[in-house]
Amino acid sequence: MKKFLITGGAGFIGSSVTRRLIQNSNHSVLVVDKLTYAGNLESLRPISTNPRFAFAHVDIGDKSKMKEMIAHFSPDVIMNLAAESHVDRSIDSPSEFIHTNIVGTFSLLQVALEHWNTLAGDRREQFRFHHISTDEVFGSLGATGHFSEETPYQPSSPYSASKASSDHLVRAWHHTYGLPVLITNCSNNYGPYQFPEKLIPLTIIHALEGKRLPVYGTGGNIRDWLYVDDHAEALLEVVEVGRPGQSYNIGGRNEYSNIAVVRMICNLLSEMTPSSAGRYENLISFVADRPGHDARYAMDTSKIERDLGWRPRRSFEVGLRETVQWYLDNKTWWDHVRSGVYRGERLGLTR
Ligand code: NAD
Repeated sequence: MKKFLITGGAGFIGSSVTRRLIQNSNHSVLVVDKLTYAGNLESLRPISTNPRFAFAHVDIGDKSKMKEMIAHFSPDVIMNLAAESHVDRSIDSPSEFIHTNIVGTFSLLQVALEHWNTLAGDRREQFRFHHISTDEVFGSLGATGHFSEETPYQPSSPYSASKASSDHLVRAWHHTYGLPVLITNCSNNYGPYQFPEKLIPLTIIHALEGKRLPVYGTGGNIRDWLYVDDHAEALLEVVEVGRPGQSYNIGGRNEYSNIAVVRMICNLLSEMTPSSAGRYENLISFVADRPGHDARYAMDTSKIERDLGWRPRRSFEVGLRETVQWYLDNKTWWDHVRSGVYRGERLGLTR
């Protein structure tokens, strides 16, 4: 039985990892989360009464509180999922991205290193610091090709630049201080409990409410989609058997343009909850493109498949159907998360 400290565990991916750990293992989990607009304790409700689960409302950049908690909990694994994660928000207000993604990760690395230096024997040997990152650090692809673990970093947005920066810090703490780190870079996630500012939940909810479905530019930008629970499974595989100092690409091998995704959602909704107001597709509205919008991301996932035997379980068709069904069944969840500051308005236009 290990002790996992999960930062950002009240967010979309962190809550999936936490629910999986509590439901499918004997490990215990301490979630540390600042509860920004994107963090929601309701996403942890299914496991909140389990005695192996605990929660602390803390900013990862608060060094003294983090030190205190880590000294008390004495984790075997730290998984860093705390982040500002929305590109449009990073265009409007980059400072939070610098604060959490860069300075917060730096501070957490310092605290983790101090903790690791207090460990001895097997516990020191087996300790892992796992930093969760994105394919966006690699920049943009043309019509062909894939990002590998060796692709040079070329981030385009304040979000991806802040994530790239934190990846470099994590790697440096391994090379310089020997901290046993793992880095994973993953493609676009989708699935239950995703805050409705991202393409898939925003489209589902706007369609259900009869609102415009905004598609940036021509909708031709391509992303590689991965179901969130498949990502969580990959992360736990990496943390168990990945080699310290290594990075692993994670992706779904599911490339779709944004407009294709929006049309698929409209078709699913027409089948699952037909609207008397007309076809959902009629709500599609092309809007000004995101400044600096990367054209295409695609991951070469052969390393994690070869070395760790991980593959995504769900096809995009199956995962998207499950996701639409989840949002239909969980209106209370998204009503509650939306009652905070965000009301579905457009963010991230420089002018
Ligand atoms: P999210 O925005 O849903 O959740 C982030 C969580 O971090 C929230 O619970 C928030 O309250 C918390 N948080 C923010 N600042 C904090 C701070 N200073 N201290 C403590 N907690 C803080 O994000 P997500 O989609 O779950 O992404 C998690 C990680 O995975 C991020 O690092 C992101 O870059 C990465 N990632 C996301 C995707 C994706 O498609 N969502 C893809 C690849 C990688």
